[in-house]
This record gives sequence, C-alpha cells and structure tokens, in this order.
Amino acid sequence: MEEAKKVTDFGSDIFGAEAIRQYLSKDTAKKLLSTIEKGEKLDPSIAGEVAHAMKHWAMDRGATHYTHWFLPMTGSTAEKHDSFLEIKDGEPMMTFSGKNLIVGEPDASSFPSGGIRSTFEARGYTAWDPTSPAFIKRHGNGATLCIPTAFCAYTGEALDKKTPLLRSMQALDKSLKHLMGLFAKAPAHVGCTLGAEQEYFLVDKKYWEQRPDLIMTGRTLFGAPSAKGQQLEDHYFGTIPNRILSFMNDVEKELWRLGIPAKTRHNEVAPAQFELAPQFEELNLASDHNMLVMDVLRNVAEKYGMKCLLHEKPYAGVNGSGKHNNWSVSYGGKNLLDPGTNPSDNAIFLTVLTAIIEAVDKHADLLRVSVAGAGNDHRLGANEAPPAVISIYLGDQLAEVVERIEKGTSGKGKKAGSLSIGVDILPALPKDATDRNRTSPFAFTGNKFEFRAPGSSVCCSGPMTVLNTIVAESIERIACELEASGTCGKAKPGEHTTAFHKALQNILQTSLKEHSRVVFNGNGYDADWLAEAAKRGLPNAANTTEALKALTKKENIALFKKYGVFSDRELKSRHEIFVEDYETRVRIEGVCARDIASEMILPAVKKEYASSLAAFAQAETLGVAAGTAALKADVTTLGSGLDKLGSEIAALDAALDAHDNAAIIDAMAAMRSTVDSLEHKVAAWPLPKYREMLFLY
Ligand code: ADP
Ligand code: MG
Repeated sequence: MEEAKKVTDFGSDIFGAEAIRQYLSKDTAKKLLSTIEKGEKLDPSIAGEVAHAMKHWAMDRGATHYTHWFLPMTGSTAEKHDSFLEIKDGEPMMTFSGKNLIVGEPDASSFPSGGIRSTFEARGYTAWDPTSPAFIKRHGNGATLCIPTAFCAYTGEALDKKTPLLRSMQALDKSLKHLMGLFAKAPAHVGCTLGAEQEYFLVDKKYWEQRPDLIMTGRTLFGAPSAKGQQLEDHYFGTIPNRILSFMNDVEKELWRLGIPAKTRHNEVAPAQFELAPQFEELNLASDHNMLVMDVLRNVAEKYGMKCLLHEKPYAGVNGSGKHNNWSVSYGGKNLLDPGTNPSDNAIFLTVLTAIIEAVDKHADLLRVSVAGAGNDHRLGANEAPPAVISIYLGDQLAEVVERIEKGTSGKGKKAGSLSIGVDILPALPKDATDRNRTSPFAFTGNKFEFRAPGSSVCCSGPMTVLNTIVAESIERIACELEASGTCGKAKPGEHTTAFHKALQNILQTSLKEHSRVVFNGNGYDADWLAEAAKRGLPNAANTTEALKALTKKENIALFKKYGVFSDRELKSRHEIFVEDYETRVRIEGVCARDIASEMILPAVKKEYASSLAAFAQAETLGVAAGTAALKADVTTLGSGLDKLGSEIAALDAALDAHDNAAIIDAMAAMRSTVDSLEHKVAAWPLPKYREMLFLY
C-alpha cells in the first residue's frame, strides 16, 4: 500500500476548516462549518465572533487590510481595500466587525449594471459568501484578507457572476431532490462539481511591451505565421523547458497555499501554450478558484519576465486556448453521472443522462451564448477547437444504450437490441482517456460531462449557471411526468415496481426520440458535420452577435425567471452588458489596428520603399544595370502595398466612424492580410515577429 503524505502548506492561506477550528470556539466553529459543508443557513449571531477570529488569523499572516472580493460583470475580479486600522480614543487599533464581514458597500457605481443602477442610486453592496473561504493575498511587503462575496444592487438584483451561479445551484438542488424522492431516496445533499482545465500562453515581456495590440487587446492583430508553428506536433506533452517548469512550480506553490488543488501541468498544442488543471471541487468554490488561478498565472509570469496571455486566440494560425469545464452532479456524495453497477443505479444514471440530453438539445442556444464573446469568436470553429454547433458526444457504448432505449420494447417481451430500464445492466463504460473524442463541444467522459466550448478567459460561472438551470428544468419536467404516472411512492428504497420502471422507460424513450438529434459521435471538426447539423435543425450561431439573440427570446426569459436565476430585468441588463462589452472590445481592436497600421507599419513601409526607390534611381542615374530588376520589383511591391494599406486605413476609419462592428471586423481582416504580406518585405519591421514571440526558451 502506498503511504500518502499530508501536504503541510496546503490551504495555509485560507480560512478553511482547520483555521476555523483553531481560531473559533467549538460551538461557533460547528455552526460555521455546517453552513460551509452542508449548505445550512448562516446564523447571523456568529458573525461578530467569526470576524474577530478571521482578523486574528489574517494578522498572524501579516495582513493589515481586508477586502470584499467579488466578480462584477466585467468578467474579472474586483476588490476595494480597507485597513483594519481605526483610531479609537486617540489610539490606533486594528478592528474588524461582524458587519464589516457580512456586508460591504463599495461605491461601485462604475461597474457595468446594464441599466439596473442609474448613478443616483449607485450603491451596490457585497454580501459574504461563507461557502468560499476567505484567503490571503500576499504582495511583496504585505498581505490582504480577501473575503469572497456576492455583489448586488440595493434592490437585491444581481450585479455579478456569483449570485446567479448560486441561484442555479439551488434550482438544480430542488429539482434533483424532487426526482430522487420519486426514486425513494432519502433527502440528501446535492453537490455540483467542476474541474476547470486552464489553457494559456506565455510570452516574453520584452516582446509584449513592443506590441500595442497585445497590451490593448490581449491578442496579436497583425503577425505573419512563422516558418515553424505547430506542424511538427512536437510541443504537445513535450519536455517542459526549465524556465517554464520553474514558473509552473511557483504558480502551484501559491495555488496550494490558497487551497487550490493544482494537479496537472503540460505543454499544449501550440508553441508557448500550456495547461494547468486542478482536481475538481464543489462548483462555486471551483469557479472562484479558477479566477484566482488566472490571477496567480498572471502575477507569477511577471516574476519570470513573462506575460501570461489568457486570450482565446493570441496568435492566428495556431491553436487557441480554451477552458474545459468538467461538470457533474452528486446526491448524498454519490456521483449521478457514474453509471453504477446495478439496474437501480443504472436507472437513475439514465434518467439524469436523458435529462441532460434533453436540456442541451432544447437550450443549445443558451449554452452557445454562455461562451460567446469577442475573444472566443476567433476560436470556436477554428483549428483544434470545438465548432460553434453544440452537440453531445457519448462514446460508442453509451450512444448504443441511448439508441436501444429510444427504440424501446414493443408489445410482449423484449425485442432484440432493446433495453429495459430497471432490469438490464449497463455495460461497463470506458473511462480511458484514449477513447475520448476531442472534437465535441460537450462530451461525456466516463463520469462527467466536459463542456469544451468555454474560452480560456471566461469566468466559469456563466456557462455553469446555464448548464445548471437547463438541467434543473429537464429534471423537473421528467420528475413531474414520473409523479403523474402514479407509479411512484409504492417503492421501498432499492426496489421499484415494474410499473414504475415502465413509466420511466416511456418517459425517457419519448424524450430521447425528440432530443437525441443533438448526439453526435463523429468528428466535430469535419466540414460535413456542419451540413449534417443543419439538416438536424441544430442551431449554429457563428458569432457573438448571433449568439446574443438567445438572451432576448421569450422562452429563455421565462426559463430563467421560472427557476429564479434571473429576473426579466436582470437578464435584460446582462444582455445589454454583453452587447456593449462585445462592441467595445471590437472597437478597441479596430482603433488599435488603425493606430498600429498608421503609426508603425505605414512609416516602416514608407522607409523601405524610399530606400529601394532611391537605390533604384541612383542605379539608373549611374547606368548600373545589375540589381535594378530586383529593386524595381521591390519598389512596385512596396508601393502598391503602401497604396493598399493607405486605402485600408481609410476604410477602417470609416467603419469606426460609422460604429459598424461587422465593417470594422472586415476592414481589420483585409488590413491584416496586407500588413502580414508586407512583413517579409521590410527589413526593419516595427513589431516583434511570431517566430520571436512563440519560442521563448
Ligand atoms: P483531460 O485533459 O484528459 O480532459 P485533465 O486531467 O486535464 O483531463 O482534466 C480533467 C478534469 O476533470 C480534472 O480537473 C478533474 O479533476 C476533473 N474531473 C474528474 N472527475 C470529475 C467529476 N466527477 N466532476 C467534475 N470534474 C471532474
Ligand atoms: Mg487536459
């Protein structure tokens, strides 16, 4: 037997179970832990004691300040620090009250609210989320206590990304409890889990500093491909260079201190691209943790003279970066996406599986919009990334099971190939990574679903909120139908009547007949699939503008309202925020591209042109024939490049003036192709090249 060894430093900078037991009285610790572990309502009377303990714990780690840490609609994290310092009766004292812990009122009027707050009623407040432990942020000469919070308007409307996630978890909790009750299961804790694989690029800071596009937009707006990209497939899982490995070690040390179980690290497909995957955790915690992972990656990169690029597509022509969201649900600690080994567990698994298939088919548009954004527009559908069509991969064996349920038993006895729920035992499904299809946006991988469409910079809460909500709906629908069949309630735990299983079988069969069109086990990158998907009637929102329409559909507004995840006003505000975010980002790119083209590229090309032209003229004057042909060709290429670039800058300007997003994107694409073709013609190119940036060892 292997002897496991405890990691002493793990979680040393979070106010988790260990610190709680150490710094709080037994009684208070017990109350707080049952809120954290069992989701019980927090007893507000303990806030004062918890705050006091937290302050001492934080001060023992060098903290002088605290902040409510939250996830505004900007997609990043936010913090406003206050010191513990208070002058009391002329004495400088370190204080932190229960009220300071529970609510904060940052004057946060400049965060996007999509019209929920006009500035005269600008106050929003932050509310402590005890289920995500407070943590210490260290910064050179000091430390700050960070308290994860939800951010709401004074009306209670959500202004952040955490609140809807928590609400969607509640919706799923309720639906699942209903369903499991019908399976005669005793009430138990519903858990959602998330393992977020994080892909990223690293680039030398000295190059980053010379690229206004990377600084302003996170991606290169220009850049010809380097001779060697990822063709040789030699980077993926390759030996990790020493400098990068040291960087990764530092990142992981910091993450472990924060109780974030960083587990896997490797080189990714594109040169200078890497991945970090933590072990999965409870969903809300894992979502917060992923925000910290991105923070830590960025901060530690600085120490190594590098920049961490979290944009979905920093470089054209090589892979983009995603953030695979591995998701599952459990009941009483048992993973419901684990098929189990007996007919009764199998029946529950197949019910949940059917509910997920139904949900994904019915609401593919919502899953799509949950991953939409200016950055991911460059990645979805591109090389080695999932296409914009949402489909489900089940693997051959499970797909066959689903097919057999869909076919159903007819009349007396079993028809060959059909499967009786509650009687037949499912075949053991492979959990082997080698069997996995890597081209599907939503794949079953043994005991979880892997949503692969989210981009590397996204906050997991968006896609996870949608997934929880749509699955809550289909589980609830199935539960209601099952209940209406009148066959429940007679069963003792572990044994169900034949009538119950027949009713269940019918319900699942009907659902699968309608929704199994979303199942696709083939190659999702194949062009034929797009045609096939269209034939099946699956939506294909090719870009963010298309995808965003989902948020204004009546049925979607009703869905979120019904499950208490977004009110009409909240959803409307989010739609507004997303539209604006998208348009602003495209505009920033447009302006940046125009500036680089006119301030850096154009002068460099002019210079090269002028020198070729001068040499050519001189050769002509002196009557030197050698070289004139080449010089003349250069003058022609550079000259026509100048003309072209000049008119393309004008076109981009016009598109910017017209505030026409589609025209801005088109004008940028045209300009990029001209600029990239000139890159090989100009000796003193003003931007670092791909061949320099992509190979950083
Ligand atoms: P791969 O790259 O082969 O998909 P990784 O090891 O990089 O695999 O990532 C798999 C992720 O899935 C890990 O974060 C892992 O903890 C997570 N995971 C495993 N089981 C579950 C589960 N039941 N629920 C959620 N996530 C899970
Ligand atoms: Mg992986």
